[in-house]
Amino acid sequence: MRLDRFVANNSGLSRKEATLAIRAGRVLIDDNRCTQSNTATRSGQTITLDGKSLNEATPIYWMLNKPKGTVCANTDADHPTVFDLLNLKTLHPSHRNNLQIAGRLDIDTTGLVLITSDGDWNHAITSPHKVLGKRYRVTTAEPISADAIEQLQNGMQLRNDTKPTKPAKVTPLTQNCCLLEITEGRYHQVKRMLAATGNKVNALHREAVAHIELDSTLTPGQYRPLTPAEINLP
Ligand code: URA
Repeated sequence: MRLDRFVANNSGLSRKEATLAIRAGRVLIDDNRCTQSNTATRSGQTITLDGKSLNEATPIYWMLNKPKGTVCANTDADHPTVFDLLNLKTLHPSHRNNLQIAGRLDIDTTGLVLITSDGDWNHAITSPHKVLGKRYRVTTAEPISADAIEQLQNGMQLRNDTKPTKPAKVTPLTQNCCLLEITEGRYHQVKRMLAATGNKVNALHREAVAHIELDSTLTPGQYRPLTPAEINLP
């Protein structure tokens, strides 16, 4: 990759600003000043701007305890987004501009949201071809009947969908509350599944995605980096 492009990609400078910075002698490759913007860079080189490394930092993997009322989107005219809860100032620019949500939640759903700068990892978590469980704590308006549990467990046809849902795991907790583990990520899936049993979801909280459990020490709005064991997908 050309040096001006590398500097622009990794510094937040525009291509023109990167060219000017290079010409001004502010960029070093392996400790040697380089003033030619078209210099070819190679992987393994250490490239600095004003003494600060521009090399790819380790990708971001965070878990957030999403509070109610926030949206899983980059921007929203009416509501705060989950990105408003994150301190992005210290991030490497190539990560700051590339943060992605691995599995969105509705505005009124709370709990585990995974945020990453690693597109492959996001894909591995959200791909419909992977069978990763997502566990929700579901609180309903009406008692969850034995018949409803059977429908959820067997898989059910949702309106406008071509195929029935895959069998879900249901653990009743109280009359109006259960744990529901699904392996798909369809639009409003949990609410639609409960609606198809004649019930209504009053509160929805995601507790886990695959082997990643929401850290119980995170209060709503707090987040932390994932551990290596959490990043490592099955
Ligand atoms: N299912 C829903 O209906 N909503 C969510 O936010 C997540 C799963």
